[in-house]
Amino acid sequence: MASDAQAPTKTYRGNCHCGAFVYEATIPEIKSVMECGCSICFKKAYLLLFTPAATVNIVKGDLESLTTYQFANKKIDHMFCPKCGVAVIGKGDTPNGLLYALNARCIQGLDTAALTKIPAGGDKTEPQRVTPVYSGPNPSAQVEGSLDYYGSCHCGDVTFVMRSKKSTETMSAVARLLESLNYGVDWIYPELKEVVVQGGDSITNYNFSWGIINKSFCKKCGVLIGSKFRDLTQDEVDGLGEAAKAFYLRANNLQPVNLRALDNFTLDGLDIKIVDGTKFGRDYVEP
Ligand SMILES: [Zn+2]
Ligand SMILES: [Zn+2]
Repeated sequence: MASDAQAPTKTYRGNCHCGAFVYEATIPEIKSVMECGCSICFKKAYLLLFTPAATVNIVKGDLESLTTYQFANKKIDHMFCPKCGVAVIGKGDTPNGLLYALNARCIQGLDTAALTKIPAGGDKTEPQRVTPVYSGPNPSAQVEGSLDYYGSCHCGDVTFVMRSKKSTETMSAVARLLESLNYGVDWIYPELKEVVVQGGDSITNYNFSWGIINKSFCKKCGVLIGSKFRDLTQDEVDGLGEAAKAFYLRANNLQPVNLRALDNFTLDGLDIKIVDGTKFGRDYVEP
């Protein structure tokens, strides 16, 4: 009888963004992934595949060098790269043995947009997470008709407020998914003065390509909060290449925020534009 175990297999290669962790998985062809609406899966934008540990061969780095985050019943290890923050793999003990949870966003050459998404869990069924309370100052921006949106990483060490004049409807115009990167971020682009982030000591910054913009994620739980341009001196700006300099001068008044880090927020109804992130910056070579 046909079963998954007897289906023809294929070897996939997956990695975090910086390339410190790379694995190969020999598994049946990937046609569907699990997309769960619980707080951790939503904030991490996981697209998950579960597979027995024996099907995965770690070819660079090791599980011990990844940061592990657990919550609630602590049965699942949510793992991410401490350097780039990408949630590349998870694992959990089950009655059927040790399973790895591969994040399909990290698998090379896989068109995740084309995969069937199998819904699972959701915000009502997860172990309930208490929404952290933001206690920092208000943004300095004074915009008539603005709303304050609150957000946090999953563990609550990092909280923030975003003051936006945009209603959810107009917000849709600027939400973008950089599907081609490993993070699964849905971006919005408020100005610096519209955002205040608390818990800076709990943040790791990662940059790549031109090196002018940091991706900021929580050290403990790995949730990506947003991006922030580095403070460059005039000499450093002048030393940038033409394209990088133009980008910096055009956009360094912005503080991009990951919409998935907002609390009590849904992407439902947003008109999400998928932008091919590989067209920006320097070429990215998959490890
Ligand atoms: Zn990495
Ligand atoms: Zn956190």
